[in-house]
Amino acid sequence: MQTIYATFNKSITPLNELKISVLDRAYFFGDAVYEVLRVYNGQPALLAMHLERLTASLTHLGIKCLSGIEEDLLQNIAKNKVDEGMVYVQASRGGSHRMHSFFKQELEPNVLIYTQPFLEHPSEAEARQGIRAITHDDLRWGCCHIKSVNLLPNCLAQSSAHQVGAQEAILIKDDYVTEGSTSNVFIVKDQITMTPPLSMNILPGTRRKYLIQALAAHGHHVIERPIKKPELFAADEVFITSTIKEALPVTHIDQQAINGGRMGPMAKRARDLIVAHVSPAKAGVQRRS
Ligand code: PMP
Repeated sequence: MQTIYATFNKSITPLNELKISVLDRAYFFGDAVYEVLRVYNGQPALLAMHLERLTASLTHLGIKCLSGIEEDLLQNIAKNKVDEGMVYVQASRGGSHRMHSFFKQELEPNVLIYTQPFLEHPSEAEARQGIRAITHDDLRWGCCHIKSVNLLPNCLAQSSAHQVGAQEAILIKDDYVTEGSTSNVFIVKDQITMTPPLSMNILPGTRRKYLIQALAAHGHHVIERPIKKPELFAADEVFITSTIKEALPVTHIDQQAINGGRMGPMAKRARDLIVAHVSPAKAGVQRRS
């Protein structure tokens, strides 16, 4: 296994040797935000969009904004010599004695960055067959638009999906679809593509945003409106988007086939558009397969 190098507050160390103080507020309180970026051909995809969301998350929580993240991130990818993989970036408020309030504390953010190679593409096999999903109560807090590291409800929901042989949990709040445990959700009905609107209940996904813009550029407008849980089961297509999964068709939800368990054309189009942006050469390969 290749050594993964982490950049922690600008110092580079093998990830498995990195020591971080337990006094960091991320450890006690989950007081930290993060981003995951895909690396294609040694380059981070949609970098500006991820940095913009990171700044928004930091600003929402009043964590000091950081300088030099972009340079550190690019340097870390190069240091790890990763061609295909992901970069993880986490910024915590910093460390002090364990006190709930950070009012008037002089804290310095701790920033962790590391790049991990993918040994195999994380979603090509799933894209061929489509994935199964379950629905699951959305048990999260009221600020899901902030990409904080408090992911316990997401972990519980995704583990419940895995337990029954499904790959994703679609979260339901008051009978409405919010998003997946690690993805945004789209449905298609009578050739109209729809996705829940941005709100404090969902993460503003980078691939969600990119896809809405890319489809609009091709004359296909996505309707952003609340989606009721029963609409999932009545849809012609359901698909999810995320940095890691790109776009994947959902063929079954709670064991029920969507559109007879067949993959639909819009999920394929969504995937092609996302892949074409990040890696034109690979999109050509995918379209032929
Ligand atoms: N929602 C949640 C809860 C997620 O964890 C993710 C993955 N970051 C997404 C949506 C999709 O966001 P993105 O397209 O930026 O990966």
